[in-house]
Amino acid sequence: QKRIWAELKGEPTVSADDEHVELVANIGTPEDVVGVINNGGEGVGLYRTEFLYMGKSELPTEEEQFQAYKSVLEQMCEKPVVVRTLDIGGDKELSYLKLPEEMNPFLGFRAIRLCLEREDIFRTQLRALLRASTYGNLKIMFPMIATLDEFRQAKALLLEEKANLLNEGVDVSEDIEVGIMVEIPSTAVTARQFAKEVDFFSIGTNDLIQYTMAADRMNERVSYLYQPYHPAILNLVNNVIEAAHAEGKWAGMCGEMAGDSIAIPILLGLGLDEFSMSATSILPARTQIKDLSKGEMASYKEQLLSMSTADEVEAFIRRVTKQ
Ligand code: PEP
Ligand code: MG
Repeated sequence: QKRIWAELKGEPTVSADDEHVELVANIGTPEDVVGVINNGGEGVGLYRTEFLYMGKSELPTEEEQFQAYKSVLEQMCEKPVVVRTLDIGGDKELSYLKLPEEMNPFLGFRAIRLCLEREDIFRTQLRALLRASTYGNLKIMFPMIATLDEFRQAKALLLEEKANLLNEGVDVSEDIEVGIMVEIPSTAVTARQFAKEVDFFSIGTNDLIQYTMAADRMNERVSYLYQPYHPAILNLVNNVIEAAHAEGKWAGMCGEMAGDSIAIPILLGLGLDEFSMSATSILPARTQIKDLSKGEMASYKEQLLSMSTADEVEAFIRRVTKQ
């Protein structure tokens, strides 16, 4: 098995019927890039920038952030790098950023909600990203988008900072794609409207499942409700992919589900373009996809979407993929 993985390291990811999908990695720091390259990643699908802000006594400076983003982009040598802007709050706290205690942190003041109010923090990050953009293939992604207004506001701030930098004589790449995480049901349901304005979607199933099933992702007592293969989730995922494709955009996934061996055949059949996972899952996933027919998986789509339970979905996939 290890030998097959090694052989596929420098190869693109192609299914048995010759369809290409992109297998990319989730990272948290510039040091993680080594693992992405060693595991044959075709890019970075999610750079969680929270780590730059955590375990410190103050906010990271623009220069500090610029160096981190530049390092990741340079190491990836023009391969795509999706950087997610600050997603703090919920389970992730910052000691130096005193936020009032909340009854429901996962439903509270976090991620883009915080960034749109604390423009000082957000603009610093956007400037660092824009300055780094000339060092590789940068894509910027906003987390926890629930309404089109939030996306428009975030994008407007990005364009403002871009204009500021250009005025200051700083080079900024002209082709940075700007996309969103789809991790809130309102956005998954109205993906069609979002697809007209965003450059790409990345489905964050860790949160999308928690919000769709109303089951705290950290609470073991309700973990039985945390069901990636639930038809509700599959229908939302399908809606997002169809909406993206209808507008000529791409759809990826960066939640844990993207690297799951039962989910992979389903997602391949639904037409997911990019799978972002932990680096060590990439070669096993590439090996699995090599033996899967995208056409065959696509032929099961309507049947899967109309199933009643997650168990039914899982049993069906196990049978047709002999797992
Ligand atoms: C997600 O919600 O699926 C995701 C990838 O983001 P995080 O796990 O950082 O919330
Ligand atoms: Mg999330």
